[in-house]
Amino acid sequence: MRIEMGNPSEKELTSPERKTIMRTMTEKIRTSPEMCSGCRICQLACSMDWTCSYNLAQSRILIDDVDATKSVKITFTDECNDCGICVRYCFYDALKMRKEEGKV
Ligand code: SF4
Ligand code: SF4
Repeated sequence: MRIEMGNPSEKELTSPERKTIMRTMTEKIRTSPEMCSGCRICQLACSMDWTCSYNLAQSRILIDDVDATKSVKITFTDECNDCGICVRYCFYDALKMRKEEGKV
């Protein structure tokens, strides 16, 4: 899996500065939780890009499937910068760039 590197200055943000969850969507990313398989590839791709490790706890996108009978909940931390890497690695169309839909 090839991950493009992001802005180095933002990479310096480490876990102590991480904030709690805040958004179910971003300005550029539309989520479709009903399409999500819960594979968490998006989280692995995000954490690899920002921390150079596959660590779900370091991801800026969170997948919550507390109730298996309902759609998962997809949220983003305040640190998410809409880079779109997670979108590229979602093979289930649960994440899409809004511009791809002609909404930007
Ligand atoms: S949003 Fe996409 S990549 Fe992330 S867990 Fe759901 S299906 Fe997998
Ligand atoms: S758009 Fe946000 S959640 Fe997705 S890879 Fe980039 S920083 Fe991570």
